[in-house]
Amino acid sequence: MKTHGILIGGKWQKSDSGENSQSINPATEKSIGKFETGTPNDVERAVDAAEKALEGWSNLPAPKRGDILLRAAILMEKDKERLARLVTMEMGKVIAEGRGDVQEAIDVTEYMAGEGRRLFGSTTPSELREKFCMTTRIPIGVCGLITPWNFPMAIPAWKIAPALICGNTMILKPASDTPLCAIELVKMFEKAGVPPGVINLVTGPGGTVGETLVKHRKVRGISFTGSRDVGLSTMRCAGIKKVGLELGGKNPIIIMDDADLDLALDGVIWGAFGTTGQRCTAASRVIIHRKVKNRFEKMLVGKARKLRLGDGLKPETDVGPVINRRALEKIHYYTGVGKEEGARLLTGGSPLPGKGFFYKPTIFTNVDNDMRIAQEEIFGPTLSITPVNSLDEAIEYANSVTYGLSSAIYTRSMRNAFLAIQRIEAGLTYVNSSTIGSEVHLPFGGVKETGHGREAGILGIEEFSEVKTVYFDYSDRLQKAQIDEVRQ
Ligand code: NAP
Repeated sequence: MKTHGILIGGKWQKSDSGENSQSINPATEKSIGKFETGTPNDVERAVDAAEKALEGWSNLPAPKRGDILLRAAILMEKDKERLARLVTMEMGKVIAEGRGDVQEAIDVTEYMAGEGRRLFGSTTPSELREKFCMTTRIPIGVCGLITPWNFPMAIPAWKIAPALICGNTMILKPASDTPLCAIELVKMFEKAGVPPGVINLVTGPGGTVGETLVKHRKVRGISFTGSRDVGLSTMRCAGIKKVGLELGGKNPIIIMDDADLDLALDGVIWGAFGTTGQRCTAASRVIIHRKVKNRFEKMLVGKARKLRLGDGLKPETDVGPVINRRALEKIHYYTGVGKEEGARLLTGGSPLPGKGFFYKPTIFTNVDNDMRIAQEEIFGPTLSITPVNSLDEAIEYANSVTYGLSSAIYTRSMRNAFLAIQRIEAGLTYVNSSTIGSEVHLPFGGVKETGHGREAGILGIEEFSEVKTVYFDYSDRLQKAQIDEVRQ
C-alpha cells in the first residue's frame, strides 16, 4: 500500500522519523493508505522552505496569484467525483456531503481568486495639507494552518486559498484522521502552478508536529480549527503571533409555538444528523415551546428512526459512521451521562454491532438546561430536547453554554425572529433554516469560547493579511500632526 509523503520545498518526501501510520475508512475499518509520521525536524525544514519562498510569492502581483487559484478551482471541479469519494472513504460522510465538501473547497478557492483583483485598502483625507493617507494589505508571512478531520477538503481550502491570495507562504498540518484528503487538495494547488515552498504539508501527531508549528518563532500566523482544549493550548503556546481560532459549538435550534413544524422537522434532522452530527455547527440542542413539544417529538422520533445508517458510498445511506472508535466511545459515554442525569432517551443510544464506527441517531428529551448533555460538545448524532415557556427562556438557555457558533429559530413571527437575531450570542443565526449551511462569501466564525476571527468572505482576507497605514507627504516641508502651532 502506498505511503503518501510530506511536501517540503516542492518535493514529496519521507519524514526523517522513518515511521508511518494508516488512514482508516471509518465505515469498513480498513486502511485506505499510509502517511508519514512527521517530526519537529520536518516542521523546521518546512518552515525554512516557506521562508525562502515568501519573497517570490508575495511579490507576484495578486491578480496573478488569483489566476493560479482559479486554475486550482477548475482542476478540483474536473476531479470532483474522485475527490468526493476520497472524502467519504476517509472521513465517512455520505457521498452527497462528500461532494459538498469538495464544492466548498472549489467555491472558496474561486472566491479568493477574485480577491486577487480587489484586496482593497482605503483612502481617507489627512488633517494636514498636501498629505495623502491610505491603507494597504501586506502578507503576514509564514503561516501555520492546522485543520480538523470533519471537513477534510473544505477547511484546509478555507485557509489555503485566502493565505495564498494575500501573499503568504504556509505549512499545513492536517488532522491525522484525514491526511489523504489534504494531500490530494494540495496536489491540486501544486498542479495549478503554486511554486515550490509556498505550500508545505507535514502530516503527523498534533502534539509534536502541530505544537512545533504553533511555537515556531519564524511562523508569524496560526490559523487553527479544532477543539476548544487544543485551541486554548494553541493560544497559550503561540506567543506574539496572529492567531485565528475556530473551535467547538453547542448549537441550539429554537422552535416556537407558531413555527411551521414540518419545516422545523427537516431542519432538525439535517442539523442534528447530517454529517453524523460531526459539524462544528451541528444542531445538538432543540429548545422548544411546551405547547408543541409532544407533537414535534413524535414527528422527530418517527423520522429519526427511518434514517438508514451505512457506508456513505452507498446511495441509500442517510447517516455515515463517526470518525473513529474513540469518538464512538465518547458518544456512548455521553448517552450514559444523559441517562444518569435523568433525561429520557427517546430513540437510539447505542452503537451498531459489526464493522465500522456507527452510532444510532440518539434523541434525549426532558433535558434540563444545566445537564452535561445540554452543555458539552458531544460531536456525534446526539440531540437533546429542552422545553420552555417563552422566547425569553429559550434565548436564556440558548446563551447559557460556553460556546457561541451557530443558532437557529423557527417561527412565523417577525418579532420573535428579530429578537433572536439581536439577542442570541452566536456568530451565526439562521431563521427558519437549520444551524448548518454557510456560504463562502459570508464570514464564518463564533463568539465566546468558539474562538475569534472570521473565515471566508471578505473577513477571511483580514485573517491572512496585515494592514499597513501609509502617510504620503508631498508638501516638501515638515508637517506635524496634533501639534497646535503648525495647524493651518
Ligand atoms: P482537535 O483534536 O482539536 O484537532 C484539530 C487539529 O489540531 C488536528 O490537526 C490535530 O492533530 C491538531 N492538534 C492536536 N493537538 C495539537 C497540539 N497540541 N498542538 C497543535 N495542534 C494539535 O479537533 P478535531 O477532533 O480534529 O475536530 C473536532 C473539533 O473541531 C470539534 O470541537 C469541532 O467543533 C471543531 N471544529 C470547529 C470548526 C469551526 O469552524 N469553528 C470547524 C470544524 C470543526 P491530530 O489530528 O494529529 O491530533
